[in-house]
Amino acid sequence: MRIDNDTKLDFKDVLIRPKRSTLKSRKDVDIHREFTFKWSGKKFKGVPVIAANMDGVGTFAMAEAFQKDGNGLTVALHKHYPLDELKKFYKKPAHKNAWYSIGMVKADEEKLAEFIKSGGKPEKICIDVANGYSEHFVDYVKKMRDLYPKLTIMAGNVVTGEMVEQLILNGADVVKVGIGPGSVCTTRKMTGVGYPQLSAIIECADAAHGLGGLICGDGGCTVPGDVAKGFAAGADFIMAGGMFAGHDQAEQEIVEDGGQKFVQFYGMSSDTAMKKHKGGVAEYRASEGKTVRVPYRGSVELTLQDILGGVRSTCTYVGARRLKDLTKCATFIRVTQQLNTVFGND
Ligand code: 5GP
Repeated sequence: MRIDNDTKLDFKDVLIRPKRSTLKSRKDVDIHREFTFKWSGKKFKGVPVIAANMDGVGTFAMAEAFQKDGNGLTVALHKHYPLDELKKFYKKPAHKNAWYSIGMVKADEEKLAEFIKSGGKPEKICIDVANGYSEHFVDYVKKMRDLYPKLTIMAGNVVTGEMVEQLILNGADVVKVGIGPGSVCTTRKMTGVGYPQLSAIIECADAAHGLGGLICGDGGCTVPGDVAKGFAAGADFIMAGGMFAGHDQAEQEIVEDGGQKFVQFYGMSSDTAMKKHKGGVAEYRASEGKTVRVPYRGSVELTLQDILGGVRSTCTYVGARRLKDLTKCATFIRVTQQLNTVFGND
C-alpha cells in the first residue's frame, strides 16, 4: 500500500484570480473552439460543452435546442433510443450536434453496425463505460477505431495520465475524464474510488495534449463557474448532466407536488435506470447512481445563456480574448470557501 501525499483539488477548492485586462466587454470574447481530431481528421467548431448521455439530458430534444441556439454545443445521446427513432433523427440537421453513444456490450456494437449499414451516418461516437481501466476496454476502443477510421471517437472514463495516453494511442480522439464526481453518482460512496475532478483534468489534459489528443472533463460541474474552471484547468470539452436536468428537453414526465413542478433525474447505473432499461439490478453489481427530483426549469435556453454568459465573463476577468487562451491566462488560488450560502445554496 502507498499513500500519495500530493493534494488533489476539486472545483470547490479553487477560485480564478482576476487580472488586469484590456477587454472592454463580454461581447469581445470568443468562447468557440476549433479542433481537428487526431484520428478522424474531422473538424469541430463550437462551444465545447456537451450534454451528458443520460436519460433526461442526452435527448433528441436537447440536440434540437442546441442546434437552434447556434453556438455549436453538442449532446451525447443516451444509448436507449430504438434504431428507427435514431434513423429518423439522423435525417435532421440537429444530428450534427450529436454524439452516438455505445457501451462495451455486444448489443450496442451490433446496433451501431446495423445503424450504419442501413444508411445512418453518425460522425461522432461516445464509447462510455463506468471504469475505463480494463485492458478489454482499450482493445474495444482499438477495435472501433479499426472498424470506423473516419468516426470521431470519444472514450472513457478514466482519471490518470497513463490511461489517457493508452486510450489515445489506441484510437480515441477525445478521452473522457471523471470517476465519481457526478451529481447522481455514488461510486465514491460505494467503492471508495475516485479522483478530485480539477486535478484529474489538469493531469489528464497534460497527458493528452502531449500526444495531440483531447480530453472532456465529465461530471462535477454544479454552477457555470465550475465549467469555466474546467476549461481553465485544460479541458477541451466539458460534459455536464445535472446542470442540464429538469428542462422541457428532458423527454421525461413533469410531476406536480405541493404546487411545485419536478422532473425525475437519475444516474445511468442507478436502480431506476437499471429497472427501466435492463429489467432490474444485476445481482453481482451494486447500483452506483442515485435518483433525485429536480425542480422543473422550463426550456434549456435560459440555462444555456447562464453557462455561456458565465464562461464569457470568466474570460473577461482574466483577459482571455478566446476560450483557447483561458488556461494560459488563468491562475487558480486555493480557497477554503467559495460561495456565500447565507441565503441558501442558489
Ligand atoms: P454531473 O454533470 O451530473 O455532475 O455528472 C454527469 C456524469 O455523471 C455523466 O456524464 C456520467 O459520467 C456520470 N454518471 C451518470 N450516471 C451515473 C451513475 O449512475 N453512476 C456513476 N458513477 N456516474 C454516473
